[in-house]
Amino acid sequence: MRITGITTHVVGTPWRNLTYVGVHTDEGLTGVGETRMLGHTDALIGYLNEAAAHHIVGTDPFDTEALVRRMKYGDYGRAGEIVMSGIACVEMACWDIKGKALGVPVWQLLGGKVTDRVKAYANGWYTTERTPEAYHKAARGVMERGYRALKIDPFGTGHFELDAEQSRYAVSLIEAVRDAIGPDAELMLEMHGRFSPSTAVRLAKEMAPFRPAWLEEPVPPENLKALEKVAAKVDMPIATGERIHDRIEFRELFESQAADIIQPDLGHIGGIAETRKLAATAETHYTLIAPHNVGGPVLTAASLQVGFSTPNFKILEHFNDFADAEIKKVVKGAPQVDPETGCFEISYAPGLGVELDIEAAAEFPQQQARFDLWAEGWEKRAPK
Ligand SMILES: [Mg+2]
Repeated sequence: MRITGITTHVVGTPWRNLTYVGVHTDEGLTGVGETRMLGHTDALIGYLNEAAAHHIVGTDPFDTEALVRRMKYGDYGRAGEIVMSGIACVEMACWDIKGKALGVPVWQLLGGKVTDRVKAYANGWYTTERTPEAYHKAARGVMERGYRALKIDPFGTGHFELDAEQSRYAVSLIEAVRDAIGPDAELMLEMHGRFSPSTAVRLAKEMAPFRPAWLEEPVPPENLKALEKVAAKVDMPIATGERIHDRIEFRELFESQAADIIQPDLGHIGGIAETRKLAATAETHYTLIAPHNVGGPVLTAASLQVGFSTPNFKILEHFNDFADAEIKKVVKGAPQVDPETGCFEISYAPGLGVELDIEAAAEFPQQQARFDLWAEGWEKRAPK
């Protein structure tokens, strides 16, 4: 089998453009991959057009290892976010083709299942008024939908510091959320790399009574010594990694043991096999994996293939029941969180188990999607 070409479809909403890549073959099989490229969608598509000619067309879609290696190193320059995201889309689509050709789900090709369900946590559920009352109501709604875990960044536009009044307000928001979800649900605390180490440590301690399941990106992502400083001083698991785009660049993070949970994004780190390899390295450091997932149903389905086959997989992020939930209809077979369990139940459908509906996708053309975490009201995900 040979790849004959690729096609791209961008599904736009006000705060995210989702890029779907179809990989087509001379045997009539088509696979699909997806990434959510923040602010660089046109660059991604430009890259993919060049890569199609240089590396992709003519390849056997079963040879993903060689294809990824060629795309990553074959242009000589170091692969950053755009290249690794382009690789991810094509790689995912190739796994989809392999599964369809063999009549098996992708997880079966990754070593088989280790679980029948993957727990989900909700994100994007707080696109409401930023008050304790409104967050209480919204968090109740998440639990009523069946979720047993949710995430929130209560820190407004905090940057390095957060003054006393804003800090108290953030605490009041988390207090309301914990009250709404009860003692057993997991509450992930997101800092989006906002703070200096000392501010992050202070705020983590103020939030500790509400028992966050993890503290995410307490400091900006580049300086691991700063993260180590936070990890040494707080008494909660540290999660990070959504802005690392190459599994080899996780090495120093593992060596530091500063992270308890890593959060690679399958759509930014080269796809399914790169993430599975990274998870194996994480396992040697007794570290869990909880992929970052701001994608639509295809990226979710790809992330789940790793989830069903990886022993140290903790939980998967999910936006698509809350923020712009209508985009789920662009894909047939979109993964669903079971309201009885708060989990994604295993799927036996071949490949990724999803199909892009090109006509439905056309209802959501690419937008000037903007998501600025330092703009007032960012959490509403409705940029002006
Ligand atoms: Mg994050």
